[in-house]
Amino acid sequence: MTYQVKRDFIGYGANPPDPRWPGGARVAVNFVMNYEEGSEPSVQDGEGYSEHGLTEAPGIAHIPKGRDLAAEGMFEYGSRVGFWRLMRLFQERGLPMTVFGCALALERNPEAAAAIRESGFDVCCHGWRWVKHYELSEAEEREHIRRAVASLERTVGHRPDGWYCRYGPSENTRRLVVEEGGFLYDSDSYADELPWWVTVEGKGHLVVPYSLTNNDGKYAGAVGTSEQWFSFVRDAFDTLYAEGARTPKMMSVGLHMRLIGHPARAAGLARLLDHIQRHQDVWITRRIDIARHWVRQHPYPGRGLNE
Ligand SMILES: [Zn+2]
Repeated sequence: MTYQVKRDFIGYGANPPDPRWPGGARVAVNFVMNYEEGSEPSVQDGEGYSEHGLTEAPGIAHIPKGRDLAAEGMFEYGSRVGFWRLMRLFQERGLPMTVFGCALALERNPEAAAAIRESGFDVCCHGWRWVKHYELSEAEEREHIRRAVASLERTVGHRPDGWYCRYGPSENTRRLVVEEGGFLYDSDSYADELPWWVTVEGKGHLVVPYSLTNNDGKYAGAVGTSEQWFSFVRDAFDTLYAEGARTPKMMSVGLHMRLIGHPARAAGLARLLDHIQRHQDVWITRRIDIARHWVRQHPYPGRGLNE
């Protein structure tokens, strides 16, 4: 029987499992840097327009057909400047992060790929292209996944550990990711604050949820200044930290080089790191370490959550 994503409105309910984070941490914090610039829809790659998602003026100056040189430059800022600023911000503090890597984007910046390879940051595959997977046919999507894995093996030196689509997967994505093999988890869900198991084609498969809430994508909406973003995400951390005395959870924080890589926004990220680092009993970690921890401490019980 072909795997189908089921809706689950119940999840862990009132009594989520104790994740037993290392060191008895009250919250596991995972920072994610989305490496997308160079893989977005573009004229040179055949889409016939320049993508403008998460740039400075989305919608305002958008050219629906042909090259939008302003949007192209705003994307290029991300990989030329924002990337290095974010790398410095974490490496100077000795903090880990996870890279959601679009394969073609990393092919187009070998220096950045080498820096990721040397950093020890884990790479979760963010697709061959930063495109809408739900618009791909099953055969196209299978080919995108296969090409992405082969490409990342070349650029960052190892297979990606996890998978995460742009915004929304297709109904086939999870099954195709399992079919490709070699992935420890996918992050194609926003439904929880702890990992959980699903059964795909008879096998256990781990979901490590992601967040568009604790995310610099908020700058494209209501959040204007770094102080607003900082206080918004700090409140999430403080709430989870307080709750973590009894029910520890994980917290994903999503970052984009072409957004929070700008100086005015990077300042708010630095304040957030300062704030979190002032707390004891926090596990700032990579996504792969959360997945491995879950596999060891909460192995697949033979059926997925609420299956
Ligand atoms: Zn992304």
